[in-house]
Amino acid sequence: MLQEWLKRCYRRLPADQQSLRGFGRALFLPIHTHLLVLAFLLFWYLQRQYVASFHHVVLSGALISGIFTATRILLLARLGNLHKAALVASLLCVLVLFFNDLRGALAESFQALHIPLQSRLRYDLVLFGLFFGTAITWVVRTRRSLVQVTQAVEVFSLVLVCLVGIQILDFTPLAPAKSPVSSLESLNDLPTSTKPPRDIYLILVDSRTSSSALKRYWNYDDTGFTSELQRLGFQCPQNATSEYFTTPHCISTLLNMETPRVPTNLQPKGIVSYLARSIRDSRVAGFLDHQGYEIVNLSLFDLLDQPRFYAFFEKGSYFSIFASTLPGVLWRDYLNHAYLKGANEKILSELARLPTRFAGRPRFVYAHLMMPHDPYLYDSHGQTKPMALVLSNKMDSHAYLEQLIYTDQLILKTVRSILSQSKTPPIILVRGDHGFRHLPPPDRDAEEREAFFAAYFPDNRSLDWPANVSHAMVFRDILNRYFGTSIPLE
Ligand SMILES: [Zn+2]
Repeated sequence: MLQEWLKRCYRRLPADQQSLRGFGRALFLPIHTHLLVLAFLLFWYLQRQYVASFHHVVLSGALISGIFTATRILLLARLGNLHKAALVASLLCVLVLFFNDLRGALAESFQALHIPLQSRLRYDLVLFGLFFGTAITWVVRTRRSLVQVTQAVEVFSLVLVCLVGIQILDFTPLAPAKSPVSSLESLNDLPTSTKPPRDIYLILVDSRTSSSALKRYWNYDDTGFTSELQRLGFQCPQNATSEYFTTPHCISTLLNMETPRVPTNLQPKGIVSYLARSIRDSRVAGFLDHQGYEIVNLSLFDLLDQPRFYAFFEKGSYFSIFASTLPGVLWRDYLNHAYLKGANEKILSELARLPTRFAGRPRFVYAHLMMPHDPYLYDSHGQTKPMALVLSNKMDSHAYLEQLIYTDQLILKTVRSILSQSKTPPIILVRGDHGFRHLPPPDRDAEEREAFFAAYFPDNRSLDWPANVSHAMVFRDILNRYFGTSIPLE
């Protein structure tokens, strides 16, 4: 049947493309569709050149080129005009491959022009759908010869490839950044601690804002949550903040005890990769490993030799290339929610199970819940919203609050279980990395750096930290308290 259909398509091709030579030429000329695929891959590679696998890029390129070439041939059979078929294929190529970049450029233009409009996927889909739909309709219907348009697109695509190619050639290898804090450099030279070893739980609650911000922006009082934590022995400093509003920056600062010095020549995705690497090789994990700790990684980042528990930012080069395309964006924003829901549930069940499992040595547990961060799947009582599994709007501050209230309940249940089941009382940190990032300006800038913090210390020593407890201070304090280091808190 497929064979029949292919034969029918072939017979519909214009006469000069029915010879082997003519068909071969039609596959490659005009060349702009292939140049656009090449530009997309080079641009992807430019943003992740420190982590990308080159042969994955080449194989993905061959596959994507094959898909658009097949599309072009089918369009040629339908439209009977090579220029039209190639131009429609190239327009589809730009829409599918550069959708994310076009959205980013649009959002940046709005920001530069001080237009208070925030990019939302469904509006962007309608907007770009209309634009490309109109352009494709014009190409299909026009009676003009499209030779000049084709030439212009050829030049444009070639210039695009050259511009990205030049930036890739400008590659600078990364040099490891040196720490200005000498006391951090010699951490692993310290003798192992003589104090009774205690498990350390870092429970990261992604996007959990501070209590004061909840009052200020949501008119919500979370005293029920904080007073129950205090009853259990936690201290909840009200002055905790975050140095950043993006997860990798926050976690890198938390686990390296200082703000990262990211090379200035990195593109946004390269920054994520760079920070993920700095988290994997972090000082805190290295120090605790040296102290004989078992590293338990329930997070979205690799940690020493422990692979990430679930994927959030990247899943290797093939997946990352897919995630940059329009189908990938749709998958991530509308269909990935069940995956994250499952990851959160697994983290919580691991946290409940860990204290009962004999380890033989102390543990450092880094659990990173992707809650109350979107997708907002739960109401405040923990009922799953069925539609949210496919349509969660990350800007919805009310849905965020509902999920935050339920997350607080889960946290209470989890810390109660850890405290009651641990043989030696552990250290527990409950930390938000940043706040809610989608309030309308100007509140957004202040809110996104709000971060919840509560700490349980078995000896119940009171916190004597300076104002604005930041990510960089948290482990400096813990190492000083429990491992005899004397790292300055600021
Ligand atoms: Zn985060």
